[in-house]
Amino acid sequence: MVERNSAPALETSFANAGGICPGFAGPWAAPGMPLKALRWLFQDTAPLKIRPQLDLAQWAWLAKFTANCTKARFDRNKARMQAMAHYAKACLDQITEETGIEYDAAQKGILHLFTTESEMTLGHRSAKVLSDLGIAHRLLSSDEIAAVEPALGQGNETFTGGIHLTEDATGDCRLFTDRLADLARKRGARFHFDTSATRLTVADGQVTGLETTADRFEADAYVVAAGPFSRALLASAGISVPLYPVKGYSLTCPISDSSAAPVSSIMDEHSKIMITRLGTRLRVAGMAELEGFNANIGQPARTFMLDRLKTLFPAAAQYEQADWWCGFRPMTPDGAVRLGQSGLSNLFLNVGHGSNGWTQACGTSKVLSDLIAGRPPELAWHHH
Ligand SMILES: Cc1cc2nc3c(=O)[nH]c(=O)nc-3n(C[C@H](O)[C@H](O)[C@H](O)COP(=O)(O)OP(=O)(O)OC[C@H]3O[C@@H](n4cnc5c(N)ncnc54)[C@H](O)[C@@H]3O)c2cc1C
Repeated sequence: MVERNSAPALETSFANAGGICPGFAGPWAAPGMPLKALRWLFQDTAPLKIRPQLDLAQWAWLAKFTANCTKARFDRNKARMQAMAHYAKACLDQITEETGIEYDAAQKGILHLFTTESEMTLGHRSAKVLSDLGIAHRLLSSDEIAAVEPALGQGNETFTGGIHLTEDATGDCRLFTDRLADLARKRGARFHFDTSATRLTVADGQVTGLETTADRFEADAYVVAAGPFSRALLASAGISVPLYPVKGYSLTCPISDSSAAPVSSIMDEHSKIMITRLGTRLRVAGMAELEGFNANIGQPARTFMLDRLKTLFPAAAQYEQADWWCGFRPMTPDGAVRLGQSGLSNLFLNVGHGSNGWTQACGTSKVLSDLIAGRPPELAWHHH
C-alpha cells in the first residue's frame, strides 16, 4: 500500500462525525435540492454552500449533480446506497467481533432532531420511507426526546420531534483505520508511507506500473482508493471519474461533564450538524462547501458550529480548547461509490464514498476484494 502521509487516515477519514448510519444513507442530490442550494448561495453559512470557481470540473460536476435530483434517479441512487450501507454495517460488525478491534465504538443509535414544524413534517415523511424500507426506528414527540438524550434538557432549544434510528452506531473512523492497518501489517501487508503516487503507466489496456516519489511499483492488480484525490491520479491513466471535494468541518474536545453530553449521537436537522460521543471525547461535525481544496478553517464556520453546539449542549466540554479540522468528502454527483473494474483490466476503483465513507467502507472493500480474487461478491454491485 502506497500512502503519501506518514500514517493511515490523516485525510478525510481523520475526524469525521463518527456516524455509522445505514438508516439514512442516501444521496444529497434529491428533489428540491437545486432550489435550496440556490437560496443558500446568498447566505454566509449554510448546510450546503457552493462557491462558484473558475473551474470546469466544478461546473461539470454541478450539472451532473443537478441531473440526479429527479425523483426517479434519487430513488434508484438511494436504493443502491442503502444496500451497500447495510451490507457494510454487517461487515464492520463481523470484523469487530473477529478481531476485537477497539475504536471507541458504541451501538446506541442516532437521534435525528427537528426544530421547526416544517422539519418535523419532512421527518414524518422520512419515517414513512424508513418503515417502507424496514429500517428500525422510533418516531418521538418533543416530550420523548429527553428520555433518549437527557442532556438536551440542559440546553436552550425546543424541538418539534425526532426520529431515533436505534440500530445506527458510532465510532472513531481514524482509530479503526489505524488499528486495522496494524492488524493487516501483522498478516503480511506492506505499507509504504511518505510515498506519493504520481502516475499510473498504461499499455495495451492494462496498467504496467505505478510511479511514485520513491520506487516504481509493479503488481498483478492495482486499486485506487485515494479519496477526493483519486481524480488526478486516475487522470494519469486516462480514466475520468466525476469526483468533487465537498469540504466539511469538525471539532473535537474532551468531555468535561458526562451528564451534560450526549449519551450517543444526535443529528441536528436544523443546522445539519452531528454531535457524537466518542469514548471520553465529543466530536461535532458538519457543513458542506464546494470550493475546491481550500483547507482554510474560517471564522464563520467556527462560529456557526460553536453557537449551535453551545445552544444544544452548553456544558458538556471546554469548547475553547477544541481541536478543529476540515476534510474533503470525495463526492460523486449521484452519491454512489465507483467500485470495481475501471475499464483497464487490472485497475480497480474504490472511490467516491462522499458523506457516507465510514458507514460504507467495510462493505465496499469486501466487495472489491471478492471481485479482485474472482469470487462472486455477496452484494451484487454494478456500475450504471
Ligand atoms: C465533516 C465530515 C463529516 C463526516 N461524517 C461522516 C459520518 O458521520 N459517517 C460517515 O460514514 N462518513 C462521514 N464522512 C465521510 C467520510 O469521512 C469519507 O467518506 C471517508 O473518510 C473517505 O475515505 P477515503 O478512504 O475514500 O478517503 P481518505 O480518508 O481521504 O483516504 C485517501 C488516502 O489516500 C491518500 N492519497 C491521496 N492521494 C495520494 C497519492 N497521490 N499518493 C499516495 N497517497 C495518496 C491520502 O493521503 C489518504 O490517506 C464525513 C466527512 C466529513 C468531511
